[in-house]
Amino acid sequence: LEVKEKLLEQIAVNQRAPKADWQSQFSWDAKVQDALETVFRLADFRPHQREIINATLQGRDVLCLMPTGGGKSLCYQLPALISGGITLVVSPLLSLIHDQVLGLCSLGIQAISLSSLTPKEEITAAYKQMDSHSDIRFVYVTPERVVSAKRFMSKLEKLYKGGRLKRIAIDEAHCCSQWGNDFRPDYKKLGVLKQQFPDVPILALTATATDVVCQNVKEILRISACEFFRSSVDRSNLFWTVRQKPAKAEDVTADMIAWIRANYRPTDSGIIYCQTRKESESLAAELQQQGMRAACYHADVDAGVREAVHSQWSAGKVQICVATVAFGMGINKPDVRFVIHHSLPKSVENYYQEAGRAGRDGERAVCMLYYRFADALKQAAMVSFEPGWEQRLGAIMRYAAAASTCRRSLISRHFGEAPAQCHAMCDCCSRAQSGAAAERQDVTEAAAAVARTLADWPAAEKRATLVQLIDRWRASKVGADGKIGKGMSKDDNEHVIAQMVYDGYIRFDFGYTAYATNAYLKTTHQSSLLLQGKKKVYMDCPVAEAPATASSKEPQQAAQAEQDCSRRFCVMAIGAALAWGGPRLLWVS
Ligand code: ADP
Ligand code: MG
Ligand code: ZN
Repeated sequence: LEVKEKLLEQIAVNQRAPKADWQSQFSWDAKVQDALETVFRLADFRPHQREIINATLQGRDVLCLMPTGGGKSLCYQLPALISGGITLVVSPLLSLIHDQVLGLCSLGIQAISLSSLTPKEEITAAYKQMDSHSDIRFVYVTPERVVSAKRFMSKLEKLYKGGRLKRIAIDEAHCCSQWGNDFRPDYKKLGVLKQQFPDVPILALTATATDVVCQNVKEILRISACEFFRSSVDRSNLFWTVRQKPAKAEDVTADMIAWIRANYRPTDSGIIYCQTRKESESLAAELQQQGMRAACYHADVDAGVREAVHSQWSAGKVQICVATVAFGMGINKPDVRFVIHHSLPKSVENYYQEAGRAGRDGERAVCMLYYRFADALKQAAMVSFEPGWEQRLGAIMRYAAAASTCRRSLISRHFGEAPAQCHAMCDCCSRAQSGAAAERQDVTEAAAAVARTLADWPAAEKRATLVQLIDRWRASKVGADGKIGKGMSKDDNEHVIAQMVYDGYIRFDFGYTAYATNAYLKTTHQSSLLLQGKKKVYMDCPVAEAPATASSKEPQQAAQAEQDCSRRFCVMAIGAALAWGGPRLLWVS
């Protein structure tokens, strides 16, 4: 906590520091513009790109925080053409490096990569090329190359002494910080670069970082006095929505399939993130059975198969990749139309990063999260050993449970930004616009009954799980007419309990066995206020989910045609079955 406070203090100081005007004119302006147009064949810069390029060309260290798809690569690729010499790029994944090297080569720019998998002869050849004054502009490496390959470091020394090491780019820089997601121990040691090459400007780039993570990254890389650029996390082309998750797995699957069919053509790509490997396997199998081109991707899938799934999906041969979070950083597909989360992620950071893989081409895309409170409990059991989990899970729970607050504004605020204009690009705003806003309901009596049920929990029995609490509450006679629990659906029971957690009347509690962590529910001291009738509990009535409907005409027609076709097929099948004298009883829906 002390360290964190120190960091926050430092952040405040840094934010007061005046900034140079990186938008003004520089001697290299014409060259930069020319490289943009003739080499990269792009018309304009995206927000912040020009400023970042100016700052790094001026020799400043830079930390750049830009959403996925914002165009971070150009910020170090273009300056390399102006500065000449060699730019070292540290990147965490081979697949990312591979894509970048291919991309540069296709633009006629020479780039090489080195990793632990590079064959010896290739390394030797690469070193030779680095020594000679060849046209190699980029050397891409994984962090372990920097921190543990002595020979490589001495090569860099040589380049440095010859004045040919012009810039160091550190991609996915949030991997440095233990407080971010994706922490990589080798990244933490990258401070050695500034130490060894103090005159070489460092450009650190990331899409996900909170203030504390940013500060931590600066310290680890020893670039505390760097220029800091932060693009808004808001991406106006993404529609953010949360769907009430049915209790039964097969209902979730059916809902998902109906939604995808109603809204998308079979050529529209998507990702479905699942919490467990098993979930992703069974969901992928189910989608395939329903005639959808889906494939499964998780850490246990054979590396070769995984690679194939990734490339088939990238090429559009597979429509939907059903994956765990292992399907991550190497994804470069620009036209992902939807990212569905089958379960609650562990933080807003994780969610934003995963969902943010949608719509990198700037076209409309949907980020949909299936949420029910029981999933939050499951997630809590999984992360309860991570420091700071409660805060992180709390934030994503608030995002998921919001029924009338703009989801876009919740995300912006989470990352310390002023809320962005939503233009009805989230389910809450869009409901409000169509006059179907969520209804606020007083559930104080029900909440008091739950608090009483928990307070009376027999000491001899184990702690209360969600299911046990609901059952006992439904069976109990507490409340005015003794019917409050039973008078509601089990889903509504769960909603009331969830609201009590959000409001701080109930908290999570854990039991550890050798094999698993179990999550239980426990009252907080606040709950006594409920029992004394001193507090009220309100719940935003979950809006009944409209059945999956089409949002644009074309897919609707496609879906209609598909439906007509399957109807015709049904009629034919029934006819055939009757003709064969098969079934005596027909179920028709
Ligand atoms: P990031 O690393 O920030 O996620 P990338 O550098 O991979 O993003 O860029 C994402 C996409 O945006 C790429 O297809 C890239 O060619 C494109 N892009 C980058 N800068 C521009 C620009 N100024 N104008 C148009 N497209 C751009
Ligand atoms: Mg990138
Ligand atoms: Zn909104």
